[in-house]
Amino acid sequence: MADQPLTEEQASPVLEPTPIYRCKQPECKAWVREEYASEDKACPLCKEPMARSIKHLPVVQKPKRKRSSKKS
Ligand SMILES: [Zn+2]
Repeated sequence: MADQPLTEEQASPVLEPTPIYRCKQPECKAWVREEYASEDKACPLCKEPMARSIKHLPVVQKPKRKRSSKKS
């Protein structure tokens, strides 16, 4: 008789390689997701050009809408 509630937040976050733009300045840690980069690809902090890169970021998972609570 296991009647455990579903705890979705216990799932470990899935990391997925995401395209980003990283500042070329070694002392500048700024980076943005590709979709948030400005058109001229300038660093939001020091205005230096940014280079395209890949960063492993947690995937935003959509909550499951399945409600299969059928019991036989
Ligand atoms: Zn910068």
